[in-house]
Amino acid sequence: MIRTIATILLLTLFISVKAQLKSPEEFLGYKIGSRYTPHWKVASYFNHVAANATSMMKLQQYGETNEGRPLLLAFISNSGNMQRLEEIRMNNLRLAFLAKDNPDKYREAAMEENAPAIVWLSYNVHGNETSSSEAAMLTLYALVDPSNTKTKEWLKNTVIIIDPCVNPDGRDRYVNWFNSIAGKNYNPQLMAREHREPWPGGRTNHYNFDLNRDWAWQTQVESQQRIKMYDQWMPQVHVDYHEQGINSPYYFAPAVQPYHDIITQWQRDFQVTIGKNNAKYFDTNGWLFFTKEVFDLFYPSYGDTYPTYNGSIGMTYEQGGGPAGGLAVLNDEGDTLTLYDRAMHHFTTSLSTIEISSLNATRLVKEFRKFFSDAITNGVDEYKTYVVKNNANDIERINALKELLDKNGIQFETAIGSSRGMQDGYSYQIGKNQMFSIDAGDVLVQTQQPRGALAKVLFEPKSHLVDSATYDITAWSAPYAYGLNTYASKNKIAMGGGAYEKPKLNNTETSYGYVIPWRGIQTVKMVGQLLQKGILLRYAEEPFEINGNKFDRGAIIILRTANKSFGKNLWSTVREVADASAIQLYPVSSGFVDKGYDFGSGKVHPFKAPKVALLTGEGVSSNGAGEIWHFFEQQIDYPITLINANDLGRADWNNIDVLIMPDGNYRFLNDKASVDQLKDWINKGGRVVALEGAVSQLSKAEFGIKIKKNDDADKKDSSTYGALKKFEDRERDPISGTTPGSILRVELDNTHPLAFGYPNYYYTLKQDDNICEFIKDGGWNVGVIKKENQVSGFIGARLKEKLKDGLLFGVQDMGNGSVTYLVDNVMFRSFWENGKLMFCNAVFLVGQ
Ligand SMILES: [Zn+2]
Repeated sequence: MIRTIATILLLTLFISVKAQLKSPEEFLGYKIGSRYTPHWKVASYFNHVAANATSMMKLQQYGETNEGRPLLLAFISNSGNMQRLEEIRMNNLRLAFLAKDNPDKYREAAMEENAPAIVWLSYNVHGNETSSSEAAMLTLYALVDPSNTKTKEWLKNTVIIIDPCVNPDGRDRYVNWFNSIAGKNYNPQLMAREHREPWPGGRTNHYNFDLNRDWAWQTQVESQQRIKMYDQWMPQVHVDYHEQGINSPYYFAPAVQPYHDIITQWQRDFQVTIGKNNAKYFDTNGWLFFTKEVFDLFYPSYGDTYPTYNGSIGMTYEQGGGPAGGLAVLNDEGDTLTLYDRAMHHFTTSLSTIEISSLNATRLVKEFRKFFSDAITNGVDEYKTYVVKNNANDIERINALKELLDKNGIQFETAIGSSRGMQDGYSYQIGKNQMFSIDAGDVLVQTQQPRGALAKVLFEPKSHLVDSATYDITAWSAPYAYGLNTYASKNKIAMGGGAYEKPKLNNTETSYGYVIPWRGIQTVKMVGQLLQKGILLRYAEEPFEINGNKFDRGAIIILRTANKSFGKNLWSTVREVADASAIQLYPVSSGFVDKGYDFGSGKVHPFKAPKVALLTGEGVSSNGAGEIWHFFEQQIDYPITLINANDLGRADWNNIDVLIMPDGNYRFLNDKASVDQLKDWINKGGRVVALEGAVSQLSKAEFGIKIKKNDDADKKDSSTYGALKKFEDRERDPISGTTPGSILRVELDNTHPLAFGYPNYYYTLKQDDNICEFIKDGGWNVGVIKKENQVSGFIGARLKEKLKDGLLFGVQDMGNGSVTYLVDNVMFRSFWENGKLMFCNAVFLVGQ
């Protein structure tokens, strides 16, 4: 009797569940594609399904965006798998030798048999490529809809993870804009304003970062939170959904060459298998598509390469549409492409990918395990150990590198003592092999580890491209990007024995003053905080010695003089700020130095908090401006005023000390009155920091700087900004292909404040062939490339001949002010760690 009642109850429950579960159309009240769904409604639909298909789906909020929108993951499988979801997850980590508590135990415990394949679908990473979040709702419903028996079959041996929107802030920026300007009916004519998205566009996140360039670096909160989840799940298949120009047919795997040669045969083959399954459905429907073009697999921070380097089948799918698509648009063939079509295409490949993954689940799991077991047993790299040398001046960047390794699950060891013998290894600094020792504090990264493939990709000095006979520079190689003296050794070097203990911070009292070495952005952050409190600081133009300590140029000196208003609180305030930033203060009891110039000398410069403004808006590179905005707000926590370049005429010049001009096309520089206004402000003491395209713009406005002409002068003139713009806008940037992304060794005059804190060289990321003529009068050639320097081994082959005898970083004095020229982007994607201090020098020290 009781059993019967229970059965009846269960049946009623089942029927009511079925009755309550709504399709996207039923829930939203409109057909998918007939209008844009804002992010909160997409989230509502996912919550609705979670509440009404409890046995098949779990929804997790894994974080929040800069603008406070929720980041969501849906986990979908059959009820049996859902009940043991945590067990499946742990087993999957054991398959990859990544379970944390006891790797050996898990090596034994991992079960290949009956382990479901994990398929992760990431929608809408580029906010204005909107159709995929609409498709995400269709995919979710197809998986849980009780009447869909096919998907139920697939869910027996797959767990599906859906991120309905990787970039909610960008999506809503686009959707809210579109909904606010579109008329009663859509207008398919391309010239209509609904197809012209305004600056900065919805592609990027709040800080105008491209999240599909940020996987490995994780500089953005969305990536940081997402990859924590990714690490816990490690899918066998990952798809990143995109959109491209309105005239392009659908694109899916297999990807085009170049492939990084670390990508396994299985990973290549299965891309073809997936591609053929997608093609089957597209052929049936008469939809056009293409494969094997445009989208390579090389740069490690994409949504396809990063999963690939982590043992997954990582893929990019591209639908025609993007920001110009609107709700419907007439393409070149005279067809009307609708949002509905776009969503249906992404929906189709979503199901097709799940289907083919289910059909091959056993093999996917087996090959996934093999990827990691090969990495552990045989290794994936000719180099077995990367050794990053410890150096007091590099400490902040060494810490940043350790953080990068941690974020990517790459194991490393910090040497606690010195090695007895010498090691042979490739020196990144001199470009050939050299003997070296291992000393306390050195960072050792072995490539025979689960994440060996990723470690290799991030560290290798040169990478082998499958489609080319030559080895090329990997333009993101961590030792160059972080500016760290590193060796790549073919030997497995392990130090073992205990944990490295960080030198303890001990900020003792002073009565006279403190000195702080100028070492990196943690120091800058601390200095910025002191300046904001109104504390007057000084920097030393020359090295000095005091109390047995040697200090390099740029050392910051805090004295009671000129800070008397703080009374007794001065030193406790300084110590508080230093302790919070983990910065060591060196107390001094006199301004009389043992060597060098005394603190009262003219070689010691007082400086106050600069008021900083950044040009943004129409014509300015949104990525370039975003990198600086993010740096000030999120990395050094220093106030910055964003001004639209078109409004500069109305700016309150008295309230600006430093004006930053990111890469861009500045219309006001064509207007003589505006240029005179700017020059007048500089002559009175204003300081400009110009980056990339802004330098060529200033050169045309007769600021004295000149872009060097070379063989390709004609081509270059017309493309100075055009090429950069195109580079930023294109879906993918094959960094080793036609774009000369390359690393160059630049000679630095580190006696100039712009290069304080650096050795006499710097590795720059070169993305164009721009170089300036040397500044002849009233200026300083701080970062240059000389002819005789061409023999050093770090210059990308393509640029070697073009780039010589010229300036990349320099300062021009104008009246009481100055202009700092940074021809290359020292802030690139916020991962070129070693460039940030040069930018800070330009803002805080130059011209003070
Ligand atoms: Zn995209």
